[in-house]
Amino acid sequence: MKTLVLPPDERALAYAKELIEAGEVVAFHTETVYGLGADARNDEAVRKIFALKGRPTDNPLISHVHSDYDISDLAEVPPYTEALRKAFLPGPLTMVYPSKGKVSPFVSCGLPTISVRVPSSPAAQAFLRAVNVPVAAPSANRSKHVSPVTAQHVLDDFDGDIPLIIDGGPSRGGIESTVLDCTGAVPQILRAGLVTREMIASVVGDCGVYHMRAGEKPKSPGMAYKHYAPGCRTAYFSADALSDAKRCYERERGAGGTPCFLAEHAVCESLAGYAALDLGASPEEMASNLYALLREGERKASLLIAVEPRARGGVMDGVRNRFLRAFGQSEEESGS
Ligand code: AMP
Ligand code: MG
Repeated sequence: MKTLVLPPDERALAYAKELIEAGEVVAFHTETVYGLGADARNDEAVRKIFALKGRPTDNPLISHVHSDYDISDLAEVPPYTEALRKAFLPGPLTMVYPSKGKVSPFVSCGLPTISVRVPSSPAAQAFLRAVNVPVAAPSANRSKHVSPVTAQHVLDDFDGDIPLIIDGGPSRGGIESTVLDCTGAVPQILRAGLVTREMIASVVGDCGVYHMRAGEKPKSPGMAYKHYAPGCRTAYFSADALSDAKRCYERERGAGGTPCFLAEHAVCESLAGYAALDLGASPEEMASNLYALLREGERKASLLIAVEPRARGGVMDGVRNRFLRAFGQSEEESGS
């Protein structure tokens, strides 16, 4: 199959509509990462997403809709969620509600809930308006690989396997949406992202954060899986262990390898003479740059040496979560 990469013009949107109606899968730009979408009401189309990605069949998908779609058609919406939708949608916030059972049972993998997102990217809005159905979509990467933030990244994982990528340019947000459980009296963050606990609490007064306990069945099944792994060898150091990290780099170079650091801007400034990928200085910059740099790192390094960023809280919660998981670290091990 030839994979077309097209901007969201009239021709592309008409083709996307045709494909979605035929039960095919279409990749599309969003402001967080690229998604791999299919008609959420079509069992076979949804199963295609899992098969293409190699995604575990107990890891539910988010349903994406345009900003005028009536969410109460899909979900029971608690009254307090109105203020959250007003404040943050369209945008990088996914809300989990009790489901009305209107989409395929494969979308939520048998859970009684449905997660809904209204992306703000103009390309995503144009695509969702053209198809005018809920579109189930995980990130458009092979399962466990780094999420894609350009159409080229999607091609790198799926060239020849999907018919169309709607190219809206780079995904500037850079990390996946915040996932917020809205099935209880107080909302609870299941996955940290650009819409932070502090931002949510400022609108509805309170916001919990879910932490999976050892041995417990996770509330958000995706949390149990290894994610975002670059396809090269990796090493991980705390910010206090820079001299150990440099010794690791020298050893790799001595053995004929091509080591490369991945670190925040302040650390990169002290790495003159070393190959290094600069994550940036602010949490927003680090979110925006992380996945593209992980993919660049896997392309050019035999060993990618991560130095943990120091900042904590707010957007950094989401960045740290992805950064640690990309390098096989748990948040507990790293002392947070
Ligand atoms: P991805 O599609 O890779 O961005 O992952 C979607 C994330 O949302 C995963 O961590 C899922 O476990 C989570 N998720 C999706 N739907 C639900 C749901 N109904 N309840 C809880 N978590 C969900
Ligand atoms: Mg994903």
